[in-house]
Order: sequence, then structure tokens, then C-alpha cells
Amino acid sequence: MSFRHLGRIVIPPPNAERYTTVCQFCNVGCGYDVYVWPAGEEGGLKPGEHGVVYKIKDTVYDRELKPESTDFTRIEPLSHYLGIPWISESMVVRTIRRDWFRGRGTGEWREVYVAQIPSPECPINKGNHSIRGGTNGERNWSPWNVAGARRLKFPMVRFGGRLEVVTWDYAIDLVARVVKGVIDKWGVDNPKWGKEGHSIFAHRMDHGGGGGGGMIENVTAGLFFFYGVRTAFARIHNRPFFGPENPAIGDAGPGAMNNSLHDLRLADVIVFWGTNPYTTGTVMFIEHALSNLRGATADEKGRWFDGEPVVDTYMIIVDPRKTETVEAARAAARDRVLHLAPEPGTDIVLANAIARVIYEKYRNTVDNILQVYRQAAQRGFGWDENAWRLYIEEALEINRKPLDQYLAEAERITGVPRRDIEKAAEILGAPKPGGYPKRVWLMYEKGIIWNQNYRSIYALVDLCIMTGALRGIAGTGCQRQGGHQEGYAGPEPPPPPWTNERLHMSPWNFAKLNRIELKTYDDYKRLFH
Ligand code: SF4
Repeated sequence: MSFRHLGRIVIPPPNAERYTTVCQFCNVGCGYDVYVWPAGEEGGLKPGEHGVVYKIKDTVYDRELKPESTDFTRIEPLSHYLGIPWISESMVVRTIRRDWFRGRGTGEWREVYVAQIPSPECPINKGNHSIRGGTNGERNWSPWNVAGARRLKFPMVRFGGRLEVVTWDYAIDLVARVVKGVIDKWGVDNPKWGKEGHSIFAHRMDHGGGGGGGMIENVTAGLFFFYGVRTAFARIHNRPFFGPENPAIGDAGPGAMNNSLHDLRLADVIVFWGTNPYTTGTVMFIEHALSNLRGATADEKGRWFDGEPVVDTYMIIVDPRKTETVEAARAAARDRVLHLAPEPGTDIVLANAIARVIYEKYRNTVDNILQVYRQAAQRGFGWDENAWRLYIEEALEINRKPLDQYLAEAERITGVPRRDIEKAAEILGAPKPGGYPKRVWLMYEKGIIWNQNYRSIYALVDLCIMTGALRGIAGTGCQRQGGHQEGYAGPEPPPPPWTNERLHMSPWNFAKLNRIELKTYDDYKRLFH
């Protein structure tokens, strides 16, 4: 723990200042209430004695919080659902603040408490929080924060297995020698290592988002890598290349963020592909995915489905590891969780194999969904018939390779048994009673984004198209998980010093750039061969 703890919680008094914010850590975006009040004051436990008061009537989630329910004398498990949030010591910090009575930054320094409490009013977390989110409060700056004293202040180098502090001169000299040595030995780009053979990968930890301001703005690092080293492979910490966070799904059509967490509550099938949300998006997984899997959202589905049957939810988790996500999901609904563990790097083959089975065995479902896209195309939806045919014929090898052979190869390459591939296809493709296609919601993240990027995400988007995850109705979606809440503003990156960098752009943009006309099916085929 970073702070001197008191062994008791200081509760905001009724007159505490109150602000709303979101958690700073992960993609889920849990809501928090921030209270600030003078040190030395505190509220009592009973309603009316403190400032933690919630009142909301939420018709989407069917919740009503009344101010008088915030009674800290009767905290019970999961009491946040009633408007009595759990407040821990790591949510409250004592710090100093200048008063603004005579204008900003002009007043006296005063000791204050700051409490950052998960908000029961927020429909995302409903007062719940993860271990990470529970530390939002103690990450506020404070002169009494002992974590600052433990920060790394000098570079460290591993000698004989042990990290040792070194001087900045030593570290800079070492990095320069390694970079120069690599360039002298192999050059900057190395085509012998394959199409994307670069000897130097610049994987920068700076950031362009909300508080970082580093990717583009950090000119020194940019100049060094782009114009000094001249490597074509530079990316910031979470991106597959030097550009948008998730370019492939944007170029594939739907855009990176195309649904809400409410859709996760309404889905018939939830797919987590290359993501471990119990650990990395905890509240999303517990409050929404597991609630759905357990059947706790069945009433909500009934209200949204308009006569369509509500069926048991299934979850498919694709991860080479048997993660905590797998364990938690199985604890909630053992028989309705399918874990596929492909060999790392074989996700494209797995996605295509599942799609091939759906296409052959659940053709009515596929035709129903295609009908939706084709009808929407008459009203301006960007449906591309030639690209779809190319996918069916070239990626799924319909009419070219028998299903048995296709699946035998997929089993050999991915290590996923054929029966599990077929089970996944059945979960996704078999219609509900009455012939309704399932409402499929798929989320992916680094496990597949950093696994050939474009091609792997295209394979997932194609699977989403086939299963109707992109038909725009409640309970469907196909998107990445993300690391932070999204929101980026900044200038265009500077033009790179290299040219003809075809491998980092979509085929459609490549065609546009090179003035290749894409009208007939043969035009498409030429582009991909
Ligand atoms: S799941 Fe945890 S880390 Fe993520 S936004 Fe919610 S409280 Fe923050």
C-alpha cells in the first residue's frame, strides 16, 4: 500500500464537494464519484450524516436507488446494488489543495481528503469495482504518498541475472552501441527474414491518448527512430503499427467500437478471442458477461427481443492458456462454456474452419443474415458481394477442398480437435427455436491483434459477418476490448521516410493508392494474388 493507513475509513461529510469521473485504468469505463472535503471533518454512518447519496431511476437496468438507502451501518455483501458502495482505505487519500477563494492558485494550502468511490449510479459498474479500480483514490498525488520514494529514478541493466542501477551515460551508450551493432550487421530492413523483415523494431512506450501526449508529440523519439535509425517498424506501446489503434477492423468495414456493454447482456453467444477479461476488464466480465451466462439478464432480453425466444447463453473463449476467465466462466455455467486453445499464431485457420462448418451445416442461418446485409445495401449499407465471394472461395475454399480435408488440416495446424471446431460452429450457427439466428457478440484483443494484425482481424470480422454479429441489432457486436476508454485527439503523424510500404495498409487502400479499379470479381482476385 502506498499510504499510511488509519485502520478506519473517513466518510465524506454532507457538505463535501462532489464530482463524477471514470476509472483511469481499463476499457470498461466504470463510473466513480469523487468527494473532496477539509481534513479533520468526516461524515457519520447513518443516512443524512454523510454526503454519499444516490438517487437514480434506471429503466434500462430496472434499478431504483433512493437517497435514504445509503446506510453504512448495514453493509452487506453486494450492497452496492442498493446504493451502499463498499469504501476501502485505498479509495480515500489525505493530500493538500490550494483554496481558490481569491482566484485560482492564489489561496492557502489546506489539508483535504479526497475519496474516489465506485458509483452505484453508473450503469456499467453499479457501484462494483475491480482490484485495480479500488486503488483510484490512492493514485491521487499526496505529499504523504510513500510510493513516490520507491519510483525508479535511474536506468537498470541486468548483469548476470541481477538488475543493477547504472548511470544515464552508461545506459545511453549501451543502447547506441546495440542499435549501431544491429544496423552494421544486418541493415535496417532485412527482406531475407520475410515480407515484414525489419532488423530494428521500435516499440515505443510513449502514448498519444488522454493524459500521455507522447506518440506524435514526443518529437525526439520520433526523429531518432524515423530519421536516425530509419526503421519502417515503429509503434507505440499498444498498437500493431504506427497508426490507429485498431486499423484492421476499421478498414474491414464496421469500425472499432460498434456496440455497448448492454449488448453483452443481451447476447445469446459471447465470444472472447485472445482476451482475458476476468483479469483485464473485470467489472465488464462479472457484471455483464457472467450475469448473462448465468441467466440473470433473461428478463432484459425478453423486453428487447420482441417475441424472439430467450435461450441459454453460451460462451466461447479462445486462448492458448486456460485462464482465470475460463475457470470463472465454467464455475458459472460449466456445460455452456467452450474453451478453444489453438497453437499461438494459428487463429486465422481456426476462425476460417469454424466459418466453413457454419457455411456448410447452418446454411439457412447464413442465408438469413446475408439477406439482412443485402437489403441494407439497397439503403446505402456498404455490402461488398465480390469481397464476400472471394472470402468464401479463397479463404474457406468452398468447391475446392472437401470439408473433411479442410477440417483435418485445421486440426493439424491449430491443435484444436475437430469436434471442438464443430461444436463452436454449432453454438454460433444453429438457429434458435423459430429459426431466429443467434445474437452473437464477439470481443477480441491483443492475443489476436498482435497475431498478424490485418489478416487475423479480417478472419474474425468475416466470421462476425457470417454469424450476424454485425447486423446492428441489440445483443450483437464485433469489437476489440481495448486497454483504456477510447478517446484520442491529435495531429496526423508525420509522413514516414519510407515508400511502397504496402504491408501496413489494407488491400482497399492499396488499390486506391495504386489506382487499381475494383469492379469485377476478377479485379478482386488479381488484387489478392
Ligand atoms: S473494471 Fe476495474 S479497472 Fe476497469 S474501469 Fe472498472 S474499476 Fe476500473
